[in-house]
Amino acid sequence: MKVLLVDDSRASRALTATYLLEMGHPAIEAGDGEAALAMYRKENPDVILLDVEMPGMDGYAAAREIRRLDRDGAWTPIIFLSGRVGDEDIARGIDAGGDDYITKPVSPVVLRAKLLAMRRITEMRKKLVEVSQQLQDVNRALVKLSSQDGLTGLANRRAFDTAMELEWQRGLRSDRATALLLGDLDYFKRYNDHYGHQAGDNCLQMVAAALAARARRVSDVAARIGGEEFALLLPETALPEALQQAEELLESIRALDIAHVGSEVAPHVTMSVGVAVCVPSASFSWERLLQTADKALYQAKAEGRDRYAFQRVVV
Ligand code: GH3
Ligand code: MG
Ligand code: MG
Ligand code: MG
Repeated sequence: MKVLLVDDSRASRALTATYLLEMGHPAIEAGDGEAALAMYRKENPDVILLDVEMPGMDGYAAAREIRRLDRDGAWTPIIFLSGRVGDEDIARGIDAGGDDYITKPVSPVVLRAKLLAMRRITEMRKKLVEVSQQLQDVNRALVKLSSQDGLTGLANRRAFDTAMELEWQRGLRSDRATALLLGDLDYFKRYNDHYGHQAGDNCLQMVAAALAARARRVSDVAARIGGEEFALLLPETALPEALQQAEELLESIRALDIAHVGSEVAPHVTMSVGVAVCVPSASFSWERLLQTADKALYQAKAEGRDRYAFQRVVV
């Protein structure tokens, strides 16, 4: 262990340092509170032996300062060294941020035992910090997983619902229109039947990338909300811009030029898109916008696919 030994008495410091060295713990030494603080910052010791009675900054003040420096859950055990160890002294020491006391003159047996105890606590604490770090990492990964679609990396249905809810709340305050595009691949069952499920999955990934490219603003959300159903939530987007986005989306899917012999509308994979736009209102919920976009999608399918249709939100 790296021990920071603080004592204003040169003789008693030298003696304690000898004991420490015999126990295999070379000490770094300081003769007053200020020097102790500087060394603490620089040397990052495992344990601090801190004399209480010192001229200038005494041990209690130094301990308080050390605890103030400890950030991010850092903690280094402090053992006070003092000639007087009455009840009041112990209370004051613990209050100042210390962990234990050794009476001077220091007994090597007691010193060894207390260092051992501190080492145990330090190691236990280190393990706890590690485990809590791992938990945090796992937690972050879980949060990501729970909002991300595994196949495409787009927002999943759950994240989409959350985004819609948030956007609705925000839209209520801003009075600006929100646009929603719902896309569904055309004759995708036949695509799977003809090219196989793996090819179908690859196709969904390419389509997802094309959709993600349409989400240009940070607040835009591209999601996969069903097997071959996609959504593009466009906050603060009025009708002309929404229709423009729909047309560009259709074009970008065509431009992927994924062969689709089973399609009745084109020799390549196409999408149908339903568009709905409204200013969020307290008198209805975001589900109404979703239903309307779904109706528009149904209309685009009925009108021949590989196109978009728009439906007005009816309140
Ligand atoms: P329409 O033009 O009317 O949309 O016809 P469609 O065949 O696309 O519609 P339907 O809903 O009948 O079929 C959707 C198909 O999408 C069913 C299934 O074969 C396929 N599908 C759904 N989820 C996945 C998936 O995760 N991976 C793959 N490869 N295929 C999927
Ligand atoms: Mg002293
Ligand atoms: Mg479908
Ligand atoms: Mg489909």
